[in-house]
Amino acid sequence: MGFLDRVFEKKICNVCGAPIDYFQNKKLQNGNCCKKCLSELSPWFSNLKASTVENIRYQLYCRKQNYEKLNAFNPTKVMGTEYKVLVDETKREFAVAKNGNYLQCKADIINCSDINRCTVDIIEHKKEVEYIDSNGEIHSFVPPYFAYSYDLFVEIGVTISYINVIRFKINPSPIDNGQEEVINIGQNGIINKFKDKMYTNRSYNGKTSNLEEVRASTSYKKYDSIANEIKDCLLYYKNQQMEIKNAEMSIIHCPWCNSKILKNSTSCNHCGGPI
Ligand SMILES: [Zn+2]
Ligand SMILES: [Zn+2]
Repeated sequence: MGFLDRVFEKKICNVCGAPIDYFQNKKLQNGNCCKKCLSELSPWFSNLKASTVENIRYQLYCRKQNYEKLNAFNPTKVMGTEYKVLVDETKREFAVAKNGNYLQCKADIINCSDINRCTVDIIEHKKEVEYIDSNGEIHSFVPPYFAYSYDLFVEIGVTISYINVIRFKINPSPIDNGQEEVINIGQNGIINKFKDKMYTNRSYNGKTSNLEEVRASTSYKKYDSIANEIKDCLLYYKNQQMEIKNAEMSIIHCPWCNSKILKNSTSCNHCGGPI
């Protein structure tokens, strides 16, 4: 079959059965998926090629049930920057949504007991700072000087069939101290080795990086504290939810009077019957 034949050949979405255009087709492990089905998937789902038609059908079923959770979701705590973490503290559920628009992006409403880990991931970037002398040549400082910058991510591992991890950046732009990576000290075009040497000797006074300055900066502290606030809050509600679940599991009904009693009791504290 030629290319054009394939372009005009109508494919069928194996998930919902609708016809799909060649250019809008998305491949699954064992079939095709249409744009409409795709638009209903979780914003945190990415592993399309490795998914089967059955995986996608199950996800769409879960996402339909998520609509009801979305309508009942009542966030009482909002944290974060571009990506907001919204927590319903009464139901101990959370959602992560860009700009906090959880309804618009149909965010997954996740029970805090489905969190299996939550970490703050600090990504460090290191680059040598160089200078261009009045000859137009690039040199290292002596000793070499390095510029550091940081990106802070929150990573939430969840035990949901179609999402493994929710990861988002906290700082909107790199956290640095505005250090230029290439410094042009010979801009006026006049070759002056003495001036070059004076400038480079003065520049960093034997210091080898801006690491301490950047890590002590107010913006580093600010985003670090936002990231940790999210982590601590989610883990707090996860633990609370686990305690409630464990307490529920340890309650049984008395076989004599049907009152609720603790699983490890030897006798019923309502009717006195032996357990
Ligand atoms: Zn479809
Ligand atoms: Zn009893």
